[in-house]
Amino acid sequence: MLREALKVVLDIQERDIQMIRLMRMKRERLAELNRIRFLRDDLHHQVLVKESEIIELKKQARIIEGEVTELMTKAKKLETQQSGVKKVEEFNALTHEISAVEREKAAKELRLSDLFDKVAAEEDFLKNLKSSFESTKQNSEQIEVEIKASIEAINAEGKEIMAHRMELAEDADPEIMPIYEKLLQNKKDRVIVPIENRCCSGCHIMVTAQHENIVRKGERLIFCEHCSRIHYWHEALAPVEEAVVKGGARRRRHAKAE
Ligand SMILES: [Zn+2]
Repeated sequence: MLREALKVVLDIQERDIQMIRLMRMKRERLAELNRIRFLRDDLHHQVLVKESEIIELKKQARIIEGEVTELMTKAKKLETQQSGVKKVEEFNALTHEISAVEREKAAKELRLSDLFDKVAAEEDFLKNLKSSFESTKQNSEQIEVEIKASIEAINAEGKEIMAHRMELAEDADPEIMPIYEKLLQNKKDRVIVPIENRCCSGCHIMVTAQHENIVRKGERLIFCEHCSRIHYWHEALAPVEEAVVKGGARRRRHAKAE
């Protein structure tokens, strides 16, 4: 009785493990999608910031250009004024004033030329930024399509597994199922496991000979003392166990049988 009931739940367990694996894959793919989108949006943001920085620099340049023009007009005016002056003191005073204006203008022109250099450098940088944004955008579109397709495939596979699981659950023992489901929720791993080489194959801790004997009898549910998983005796459930115990363990058993 218990043997048959466990067989059904083991079958359900395999579906649940598949679902856990699928959901993990889906989470990974979604994280990848977010990372790609973040990188692309970050580049886009950098482009926008750089563009507004350049606009600001150009605005500053225009203001200084205006100031230079004003200073030029001022110098010309002073020169005209100077040409009409008769007194030497006045003439000298105007010479001082004109040279002060010229100095100021030269300083502004230097600033302006630095600004133009900076604008040119920033525009080069922006050009590179834009081209890497464009290529990232194209790449990410491609990758997004792939990821979305794989998520759809995961969803379809999940749907199938769940449908099968629901069918199986109809025949499942109503007393074992809630226990199994609670354990699965805690462990996110197989919770009905065979005893192998006197060990719990869930937590790999040794069990006593007495414990093994009780499990072998298969009269009632026996839990691992260490990890609370449900134990079964694999030879009693041989056909299901093929799916549960993989690779090395199977080979070991065959070697023993020979
Ligand atoms: Zn255990």
